[in-house]
Amino acid sequence: MSFLLETKNLSKRFVKHLDLAARMARKIGAEVQEEIVQAVDRVDLCINQGEVVGLVGESGCGKSTFGRMITGILPPSEGTIHYRGKDISNAASPEGRSAALKIQMIFQDPFASLNPRMRVRDIVGEAPKIHGLLDGRSQDDYVASMLEKVGLEASYASRYPHQFSGGQRQRLGVARALAVQPEFLVCDEAVAALDVSIQAQVLNLFMDLREQLNLTYLFISHDLSVVEHISNRVQIMYLGRVVESASTEELFKEPNHPYTQALLNEVPRLDLRKRNYTPVSGEIPSPLDPPSGCHFHPRCPHATSKCRNEMPVLKEIAPGRASACFLNESS
Ligand code: SF4
Repeated sequence: MSFLLETKNLSKRFVKHLDLAARMARKIGAEVQEEIVQAVDRVDLCINQGEVVGLVGESGCGKSTFGRMITGILPPSEGTIHYRGKDISNAASPEGRSAALKIQMIFQDPFASLNPRMRVRDIVGEAPKIHGLLDGRSQDDYVASMLEKVGLEASYASRYPHQFSGGQRQRLGVARALAVQPEFLVCDEAVAALDVSIQAQVLNLFMDLREQLNLTYLFISHDLSVVEHISNRVQIMYLGRVVESASTEELFKEPNHPYTQALLNEVPRLDLRKRNYTPVSGEIPSPLDPPSGCHFHPRCPHATSKCRNEMPVLKEIAPGRASACFLNESS
């Protein structure tokens, strides 16, 4: 089966370079090492055309870094990204460049990603003009059609970003992404900065656009309740690793990994309140010094000495379901 997007062993390491004092200390013989953060650790992900996949985890788990690698903003340290069967791991390659327009990112903070000195006409219309996508229409007509698609009035084309509300600015960010006629949207905490009522409107917009334009989504969020109603499948990430992958329905019905159970405990749902999951306690550990074995063991109520010493591998536990937890071995 050919997927629209497929990552294999996708990894990203960041090296924290030594400051001047540390470099001097090393010169005189001190054992000082550069610090390495394994932000994303061998992540496999397959997405079919038209699918919506949720990528969920706490802040600092590597999900945004993963999204940035897919969109070519960050180069992977290891692993591959294939789009429509072509290797786009190198964003500067011809395959990477041709996929760049097809895969667009929607950011959490639309205000920071919109040039405050540009009018909407140029924010939305500049890239399609450069790439010859106006299809014989004037830039103004093209921008008007994009604004209409995202529920904004065509007359807003002459405004600046500061003249919009938070929800309208996010719609503007979506219009800018749609203007280059993408097939795949990576939404990185795209509704996290919005009020709950506005969140629902923007999520509905994403789903309407999916229907109209046959879009595929990777929806990155720290909040399981945000992805529940829009995702077909969910992958849960913890400290750079995927710990559970399942259809949304199965994940909410029968979460397998203790971390997923802890995240679900925080989702306000009447049926889940009856369940006795242990809430996630403590902070996510520093990725500079991740815990040995299962990264989740310091926060896991079921941890054993094996969990502290060995890394559980993501394994299929049922058709279409995978989890990385030693508890599945004893069952
Ligand atoms: Fe908890 Fe061990 Fe499973 Fe990790 S492997 S989630 S520590 S039981």
